[in-house]
Amino acid sequence: MTGKHYDVAIVGAGMVGTTLASLLSRGGISVALVEANEPQPFDPQSDFGLRVSAISPGSAAIVQQAGAWKLICDQRCRPYRRMQVEDGVGVAPLLFDAPVFNLERLGTIVENNLLQWCSWQVVKAENLVDLYCPDSLDGINPGPDLNQVTLKSGRKLTAKLVAGADGAASGVRRVMGIRQRYWGYNQHGLVCVVGKQKSNPGVAWQRFLPGGPLAFLPLSDGRSSIVWTRPSSEAERLLALDSREFMAELDEASSGWLGKLESCGPRATFPLSMRLSECYATDRVVLLGDAAHVVHPLAGQGVNLGLADAAGLTESLLRGRLVGDGIGDARQLRAYDRWRRSESETMALGMHALRSLFNADALSPLRRVGLAVVKRSWFMQDMFAQRAAGLGPNAPKLATGAALHSLQKP
Ligand SMILES: Cc1cc2nc3c(=O)[nH]c(=O)nc-3n(C[C@H](O)[C@H](O)[C@H](O)COP(=O)(O)OP(=O)(O)OC[C@H]3O[C@@H](n4cnc5c(N)ncnc54)[C@H](O)[C@@H]3O)c2cc1C
Repeated sequence: MTGKHYDVAIVGAGMVGTTLASLLSRGGISVALVEANEPQPFDPQSDFGLRVSAISPGSAAIVQQAGAWKLICDQRCRPYRRMQVEDGVGVAPLLFDAPVFNLERLGTIVENNLLQWCSWQVVKAENLVDLYCPDSLDGINPGPDLNQVTLKSGRKLTAKLVAGADGAASGVRRVMGIRQRYWGYNQHGLVCVVGKQKSNPGVAWQRFLPGGPLAFLPLSDGRSSIVWTRPSSEAERLLALDSREFMAELDEASSGWLGKLESCGPRATFPLSMRLSECYATDRVVLLGDAAHVVHPLAGQGVNLGLADAAGLTESLLRGRLVGDGIGDARQLRAYDRWRRSESETMALGMHALRSLFNADALSPLRRVGLAVVKRSWFMQDMFAQRAAGLGPNAPKLATGAALHSLQKP
């Protein structure tokens, strides 16, 4: 007994997996979506979630084609048009303003659980995807024409392609034996929602401090969501402080920007690392999102890369179908692997280099020369801005505003 058959079985319904499910099903591809934990309803009356993401304009265009962007904007999110980068050694800040780079906005701050919930709602409402939830992956038995997938519940299904969007500890990656290169940073990101004397005017602010960057991301009520990267032991110490002590330290670290802190919510920390899978496609199985790559959050690109993977895979499959390829044929998967792996590695290694540059001693020639070059070079600033906006030269068409139906025509 092989169970029901699908074109694509997606494992993991986080922000990336749900977006992929919508894009593929809207493109006429039959989809099973397997998720271990049913997403929790989003309550707009609740306080802001601790996990937020800076969603690039390219990612917003992808989520729009997946049908969820309007739902998100109708709830709550905060666009930002300016990014201010300070290096913490008294040099004038580097400003990125959207209009200078011909962008309407640099990004939008969205709570992770809101994005996931809205995408999940679209998938459920359109009724084009079979949901296996709560359930999780037990094993994959690869075959030449299709793969057999066994779930922990004992249910089985077959699919021409299995897509692993099951996060950094991906079971799909593990059962397929795909290896990763791993760099531990011995750093944690401390996250928290804070309010300052002055309301955040819609600026993503980042200061590079010894030990790691501190970022304030604007929320729709004028407060900010912070990500404070610290050496792991320091992050644990900050987590254990009472609110008054914590606010005093954060005030010092962010001094001069928007006045003093007035409020601070619960705190949490996340370990930071870089992980790069050695391949994103093998034996009718592909990886995307954090299952394929984990990058340092200093430029807020993790989920943006994952959403670009979802768009890229959709494009590869729809384009392949137009030229007569079957779903999951080796040629399509090779193209996806080359394209998305090179994009993610470029971004991940760029973040790694930036992190090393800013981690260098404040007076080191490398750091001073590096910053001076970026400050003076319009070309480098434009390249950073376009890539951060998800609109670099190899961006998926869906990120640059193409409609999903346009990919289904020759
Ligand atoms: C401090 C911090 C700040 C960040 N800020 C940003 C930012 O500003 N912008 C940005 O782009 N990125 C940011 N990121 C990165 C971003 O959060 C991740 O890249 C993103 O959450 C990954 O999404 P995903 O859907 O790939 O994986 P996940 O969110 O991990 O989702 C995986 C899903 O798979 C399910 N699952 C797992 N195993 C199984 C299984 N065996 N069977 C079935 N289901 C399974 C899980 O339940 C989950 O729903 C940040 C990260 C950190 C740590």
